[in-house]
Amino acid sequence: MAVPKRKTSKARKRLRRTHYKLQVPGMTACPNCGELRQAHHVCSNCGYYGDKEVVKVK
Ligand SMILES: [Zn+2]
Repeated sequence: MAVPKRKTSKARKRLRRTHYKLQVPGMTACPNCGELRQAHHVCSNCGYYGDKEVVKVK
């Protein structure tokens, strides 16, 4: 079995992991109320999707 010749140092390991980051879902402002909502989703504040009200919000 092939085995690494050198131990991966803490610095090298951490340097490699600097490219890993949390993924944040795409958020856009709702064109109806201006609240932040997830792209391609019904607005949770006013219930609009596009220019129509699709969900009634109390
Ligand atoms: Zn909205």
